[in-house]
Amino acid sequence: MPRRFGPYGGAYVPETLVPALTELEATWRSARRDPAFRSELRRLSTTLGGRPTPLYFAENLTRRARGAEIWLKREDLLHGGAHKFNNALGQGLLARRMGKPRLIAETGAGQHGVATAMIGAALRLETEVYMGEVDMERQRPNVERMRLLGARVIPVSTGSRTLKDAINAALRDWITNVRTTHYLLGSAVGPHPFPSIVADFQSVIGREIRTQSRRAFGRLPDLAVACVGGGSNAIGTFHPLLRTPVELWGVEAGGPRGRSRGAASLTRGAPGILHGSLSYVLQDRDGQVAATESISAGLDYAGVGPEHAWLRDSGRVRYLAVHDDEALRAFHWLAEDEGILPALEPAHAIFAAVGAARRRPRSQRIVVTLSGRGDKDLEVVTHAAR
Ligand SMILES: *Cc1c(COP(=O)(O)O)cnc(C)c1O
Repeated sequence: MPRRFGPYGGAYVPETLVPALTELEATWRSARRDPAFRSELRRLSTTLGGRPTPLYFAENLTRRARGAEIWLKREDLLHGGAHKFNNALGQGLLARRMGKPRLIAETGAGQHGVATAMIGAALRLETEVYMGEVDMERQRPNVERMRLLGARVIPVSTGSRTLKDAINAALRDWITNVRTTHYLLGSAVGPHPFPSIVADFQSVIGREIRTQSRRAFGRLPDLAVACVGGGSNAIGTFHPLLRTPVELWGVEAGGPRGRSRGAASLTRGAPGILHGSLSYVLQDRDGQVAATESISAGLDYAGVGPEHAWLRDSGRVRYLAVHDDEALRAFHWLAEDEGILPALEPAHAIFAAVGAARRRPRSQRIVVTLSGRGDKDLEVVTHAAR
């Protein structure tokens, strides 16, 4: 696995972390080749996680668009209600393989914290989750879920008291406790080898899309669409399709309409270093990380995984931004047309996919990764003006 994607990626970390990153990479490389590890990963993905997730033909949504067929990859049906389980399980098994009894994680909306707490319980690993105080206030139910699952939630009161500060706190904890602790990073970001490991564990999404679309309509889709926060469900969707002719779109959070740049690092940011790797970052003129804004907590991050930065520059993937009000419209379309409440993150991807379907002939097939379910967003949605 490359340390860099073009110029992006790398490991800009204090020296104390280098041995841990090296050990993690070696463990992951040996685990990938170990049939026992692979079979345990497969067993728990199936029997605990619920894989494979279905590929669903959204017939009514297709009728609304009056163009290309829209198919949904149902990661919302995975254990915990989002794709985050794939990565939490994989890294949890790596921690166990390294003999580390303790997991730490960062969480913004709380979804990754919940996924880590679930895995920590199932694998008998002590679990502590860093969360900004502002996010704890905004995401009460997930704080409760983590506690019920036996994890300790540690409030972070520095900086903007949100996700980026929680990542900084988790990195500091890791530096101090690196011998007993695995840092279970929640997206395809951070220093090498995290972006590659997370992409690897999430690639089950794209592999299943490959097999299931051949079975469902006899070929690969013409276009695959996924939302991009840190970029893990998107890179998992894209990886197995990179060397095929399938068009790939990543959809970022454009935030509210007007002057805000939202959280669209790839479409509105510039190269910079954040959380240990070089990628696109939303920053001010002094290079300070900019404040972000999005209706979906899971996309509300100033950085993005380094492999996406390279896929953007190389032109292999097209990245676009969708506004808050557009994501909300797509949320209601999916609810009313298909009886599915999507999370607001993939609602951004749905909006882009419906737009694409309108402009394409009926013979084309579009697959959208429905990364999670919307129960967590009901309050936001019901309080937003329609
Ligand atoms: C966390 C989350 C995201 C954003 O994370 P990525 O790493 O970009 O995939 C998207 N959708 C859902 C449902 C999430 O919980």
